Amino acid sequence: MELDEINPNVLNVKPSAMRKFDHDISSDPDIIKLTLGEPNFDVPDHIKKAAIEAINTNCSHYPYYWGFQDLREAASTYYRDKFGYHYSADEIVVSVGATEALASTVKTLFKPGDAVIIPTPAYPLYEALMTLNQIKTIFVDTSDSGFVLTPEKIQKAVDDHPDLAVKGLILTDPNNPTGVAYTEAQIAALAPVLKQNKIWVISDEIYGELTYGQKHYTISKLLPEQTIVTNGLSKSHAMTGWRLGFVFGPHPFIDEIAKTHQFTVTAAASLVQYAATEALTHGQNDAAVMKKEYLKRRDFVVQNMSEAGFDVVHPGGAFYVFAKIPASLQMDSWQFVKTLAKDYHIGLMPGDPFGDNEYIRISYAASDDALAAAMKAVKQMVKDKNTVADR
Ligand code: PMP
Repeated sequence: MELDEINPNVLNVKPSAMRKFDHDISSDPDIIKLTLGEPNFDVPDHIKKAAIEAINTNCSHYPYYWGFQDLREAASTYYRDKFGYHYSADEIVVSVGATEALASTVKTLFKPGDAVIIPTPAYPLYEALMTLNQIKTIFVDTSDSGFVLTPEKIQKAVDDHPDLAVKGLILTDPNNPTGVAYTEAQIAALAPVLKQNKIWVISDEIYGELTYGQKHYTISKLLPEQTIVTNGLSKSHAMTGWRLGFVFGPHPFIDEIAKTHQFTVTAAASLVQYAATEALTHGQNDAAVMKKEYLKRRDFVVQNMSEAGFDVVHPGGAFYVFAKIPASLQMDSWQFVKTLAKDYHIGLMPGDPFGDNEYIRISYAASDDALAAAMKAVKQMVKDKNTVADR
């Protein structure tokens, strides 16, 4: 058996550099990690109780592959009330986390050789999905426009690739890693160029509930016929390990996505679907409790990183701060995070795997103590290394 005879699309996927780095630094018993996008909140009690009830009442059979009807109806109402989604239950597929929602969507909408625009910096899953499905990726750097995608950038991506069939765009709003949350005007500005070029939008809105001082605005309202929205409970209800997500989209495309979903995973776990129905029926305020804490932490991290000499992208949402390493340190993102982990026992994410080697990402979905220790260490490191540079 030869490894190079298996599917080259899989061989071409780079293993996640972020997960590897996180794993490597975990061998240090003193490490404090602000690496992964993992809420440090517990799943709300009412959801846990529902899951236990699901076990006790033998909710243990195959669910319908689209997902429980009750859950899809609850999702229809919940997301309509929260963000103005217009999807009825029969336009919603319950997926195994947002990850499977994205994977099934990408696999369904595009064929090998199609091209998809990915604004960078970006969540690394997207590129892996493109490689797995032999889809060409057009990376569009947003660092010179405040990390906001503009209509001009979309048009330029199309014009610069006359040889490619540009079929899609992945939009992440609020964004991981930058924390940027698009305003209504910024979203509205994108719609005409997407419509004109017949570009599908996969709108990853997993952080939609976590915005600060501004409302989340979904592009699906403007381009209902060419948007697929993905969302889920990982962030809003701190349910990362329960693996529950959704795909929202118009007929007949959502029916095709449901097929891909069925023949990949059959359905999301029945117990989790039962608990998710509770989350969306009675958990409208669950995120608000966490959001209050996140907001305090965000301000703390932004202030401290600015004091330490970093240029900080204004984070209007999610739970990340994306910060530019001071030039005086003369370090790229890997050098910075490796030194910080080794000498100061603090784990942050390098910007490089997201597509920007001059930045680092801090997840503030962590305890106040962890954040305080991290900020102290960053300041100390900047002081120490600047001194070295000055010598
Ligand atoms: N999209 C983005 C932008 C994310 O940050 C994440 C999780 N880190 C996901 C999708 C995947 O979410 P899930 O855990 O629901 O699969």
